Amino acid sequence: MGTFKKEQTEKEAITLKRCPECSANLKIDATECVSCGIKVHGVDKFGKAKRPINWGAYLFTFLAWSGFLLYIWWAFFKDLQ
Ligand SMILES: [Zn+2]
Repeated sequence: MGTFKKEQTEKEAITLKRCPECSANLKIDATECVSCGIKVHGVDKFGKAKRPINWGAYLFTFLAWSGFLLYIWWAFFKDLQ
């Protein structure tokens, strides 16, 4: 009985991965989290799904910082006039 339970646990470790965002159990071949909806990639050695690179977020961060720095530059430039 104990042996059966151990085998079942090991099998679950192989067929499931955890969402990196909300730690929900997902199927090993799932491409997105059923709980929070984020895209997930393959599984790492800890049984946790890898998070794909979010280029949209990088671009948004870059544009936000560009706008912020441009505003600072504009504000100082205006003061120097
Ligand atoms: Zn999730």
